[in-house]
Amino acid sequence: MVTIALSKGRILEESLPLLKRAGIVPNEDLTKTRRLIIDTNVPDVQLIVIRAADVPTYVRYGAADLGIAGKDVLSEDGCEGLYELVDLGIARCRLMVAEPAGMAQTDDPRAWTRLRIATKYVRIAQSHFAQKGIQTDIVHLYGSMELAPLVGLADRIVDLVSSGKTLAANGLVAVEHIMDVSAWLIANRAAMKMKYPSLKPVIASLAGECGQ
Ligand code: ADP
Ligand code: MG
Repeated sequence: MVTIALSKGRILEESLPLLKRAGIVPNEDLTKTRRLIIDTNVPDVQLIVIRAADVPTYVRYGAADLGIAGKDVLSEDGCEGLYELVDLGIARCRLMVAEPAGMAQTDDPRAWTRLRIATKYVRIAQSHFAQKGIQTDIVHLYGSMELAPLVGLADRIVDLVSSGKTLAANGLVAVEHIMDVSAWLIANRAAMKMKYPSLKPVIASLAGECGQ
């Protein structure tokens, strides 16, 4: 059996068409079912659907052989003991520093020396600013980062941006780019040795369908 861990939410919407083009179709509607393990039309391929941030953990421990996870989650995780196989090119967005539009009028990122940042990406933010010699006080949140500057929890946020609509709706603007993000196919290292004959066609068809 080959188990593929899928990230709920944004990535799932874009993973399903990719899986379909690769010939893997779930037996149930993944956006509706309450089931967490779902069989597919391919007899020895099953899917599990979990929180995006949990995908590296399931794959690392071998609870899933393969996984689809955002580069944001993978960088934050560190990916120790995992293979990052293919950039699937889906769920593209950017990890950015954002701040209130009023602050941005006079703020110069090149003059930053100390920042109070709210984010879910503690490791990425720490290493990004440390490399530039900027000190940070990081407030760790699990979601709705856009709220933090509005209520004085932090001055700035580090968050994913695609259209910029959520930022704009909260009076924020992106002022610094940290990394480009897209979803990657990852694999458990032991499974790549022990189960390669069954993983190979799945990897090849997913990689083929994303133009790699
Ligand atoms: P969660 O709330 O569990 O973090 P999301 O659906 O918000 O779930 O995000 C899951 C993953 O989807 C993120 O880790 C990222 O890789 C991707 N993602 C999030 N927001 C966007 C976006 N606006 N555009 C494209 N991909 C995104
Ligand atoms: Mg979210």
